[in-house]
Formats: sequence, structure tokens, C-alpha cells
Amino acid sequence: MARDACPGALQVHAAADGALARVRVPGGALTAGALRELAACAEELGNGVIELTSRANVQVRGLADPAAFAARTAAAGLLPSATHERVRNIVASPLSGRSATSVLDVRPLVAALDAGLCGRPTLADLPGRFLFALDDGTGDVLGLGADVTLAARPGGDVTLLLAGEPVGSVTAGDAVAVALAAAEVFQSVRGDAWRVAELPDGPATIAARLPGRAPVAVTAAEPRKGGVFAQVDGRIAVDVIVPLGRLTTAQAGLLADLTPAEVRLTPWRTVVLPDLAPEAAGPVTAALTGAGLVTDPASPYARLSACTGRPGCAKALADVQADALRWAETGMPELRAGPIHWAGCERRCGRPRGRVTDVVATPGGYRVSH
Ligand code: SF4
Repeated sequence: MARDACPGALQVHAAADGALARVRVPGGALTAGALRELAACAEELGNGVIELTSRANVQVRGLADPAAFAARTAAAGLLPSATHERVRNIVASPLSGRSATSVLDVRPLVAALDAGLCGRPTLADLPGRFLFALDDGTGDVLGLGADVTLAARPGGDVTLLLAGEPVGSVTAGDAVAVALAAAEVFQSVRGDAWRVAELPDGPATIAARLPGRAPVAVTAAEPRKGGVFAQVDGRIAVDVIVPLGRLTTAQAGLLADLTPAEVRLTPWRTVVLPDLAPEAAGPVTAALTGAGLVTDPASPYARLSACTGRPGCAKALADVQADALRWAETGMPELRAGPIHWAGCERRCGRPRGRVTDVVATPGGYRVSH
């Protein structure tokens, strides 16, 4: 079996611009204190930027002393398990328990799944790419194609999906145990596969060994990026678009200062500030805008993404992030609506799923394709 090279906080990746460490953030939940410490680490040990990933995790590049980074993130409570740190890939509906579309608060399920995962020695060797998703009934994380998805339905039951395919229905009380069992079955049959979708008949093979009733269909919804959202408790949440998913340490510090207790990172590389007083909407939005962050869902940054490019990736043919930012500032004149992804080579790392306009660097310049 090939070695799993997926980076973590302890097993870092040797990138062209130095060591890269990735820290898993189950459910995207980061306390203000942990965010501040990550920002301090990025400033003092790395290149001064916190990168948000498409799994609502974070990474820091250019680390001269990865061991010091690991020690500080562990002290901040971000590395509860040295053996399982790379397998804690759990995304969740970011406004779960707060939004009116949330039929089940999945935050306790995130904690239970994380604890169950870390408590099972056999799952320490789960591939670092294996992904769990917990959908609160909104449908916003259903489009991610996670290996194991639990999707809440009105009435209290939960649909189990494997590689995006509905395969079973369980009670909310049994859901975490079934998700863990699915991961254990995958681990026992996976051979050289890294994801359920790579296994021949993967969803059916795994589902045949799990308890549960016949599946009930669930519907994916487009995630909403940017803006102010009303919470069911009368407070508001502000969803902050981070251009190209790169947070400077000053921006991270501002987010930590503005939120009452925690932020929620999203798989679409935004940061939610929850539990704000309604009257805070104006001042908070103004402060964010002043720091170069975005809350307007109509902004070009709501649909723009880019791979690492130069100088971080040795394969890159261009500094795609700088080029994409320059291009966004011109208002992205000639391309149709929808996501636009810039890449430094044909691998197109970080490309969103679905229909995307690709802007790919080639030896002869950028090639645009729809
Ligand atoms: S798409 Fe190419 S240039 Fe960009 S990060 Fe991936 S390998 Fe590197």
C-alpha cells in the first residue's frame, strides 16, 4: 500500500516554499483564542498567512520550525490526538443549531464523531483524505461528496450517504455509531483505495455490512457565501468571504476580536462570526471591509478560487494567486457567472466540484475553458 502523504500538523509536507502544516478543525469550530494562536504561529513561525482549506481546515506554509508549530497548536487544544490528527476530517453545516433551516443541531454529533474516531486505534490509519460530513438538514454540505455523510431529515431520522450515494436510514441516536462503523468497514476492505468512490461498488459493498433501513433521498442545496444571516434566537451571524481563502494574521486577529466566542470555518473557505447582536451588523461589516475582507455575496471573490501556484508549488507555471487577485480587481469582465478556478498547471488542485470555469497556466499563457 502506498504511503499516505497527506499533510498534518505533525507529518508536514515539504513544499517549495518550506514546510506546510495542516491542522484539522472538526466542524470548522475554532475558538477566538485558538484563532489568535494560529495567527501568532503563522506570523512568528510561518509566512504570515493562514490558508483555509476546502474541508474547513487550516494550513500554514513556510514553517522553519515545524516542531515548534506542532507544540504551540497542541497547547492551543488543536491536536487532541497525535495518532489520529490527520483523520479528523469532519465538515458540518456551519450554521447548525443557529439557522432556521437547521432541522438537527449537529454540533454534538461532530464532538461525538471526533471522539469516537480518535478512540478507535484501527481508524488511525484511515487515509488523510477520507472525509465525514454532517448535514443539519440544510443540504449545504451534501454537494461535497464526502466518503461518509449523515444528513438530518425533518422528523428525526438521518440518511446515510457513502461517496454521495444514499445507502441507508438511521435514527439520530445511532448515526455516529453507523458512521464510525462505515469507516471501519472501508478500512477493512479498501486495499489501495484512498476514498470510498475509488472502491469498485464501494457504497454498496460497505452498506451491505451496516445496520439500518432503506435510504430516503435528501436534496443538496447551494451554500450561501457572504452576508448577514438571522439566527433563530434573534441574534445574527455574519459570513465573511476571505479572498482566495488566505487570511492575514491581522485579519485573523480582527475576526477573533469581533466574535463573542468562536468562529465557524466553512468548506467554501468563508468564516462565520455567529451569535452577534443585531445592532452589530453595520459596525462589524464596516470593520471587516476595512481589513480587506468581504461580506457582499455579489463580490467577485464569492466565486473565485486558486491553487497554490508559485512560489509555493514547484509544478506551478505562474503566480496564479497574484494574477487572480489582479484580475478580480478589474471586475472579471469577460467570464460567465459561476465559480472560476485559477490553477498553475493542469492538475487544477483545489478546483471546486461542479460546473467551473477553469483558468489554467500553460507555457504559452493562461487558457480559459468552461
Ligand atoms: S494545480 Fe499544479 S501548480 Fe497548482 S498547486 Fe496543484 S500541482 Fe501546484
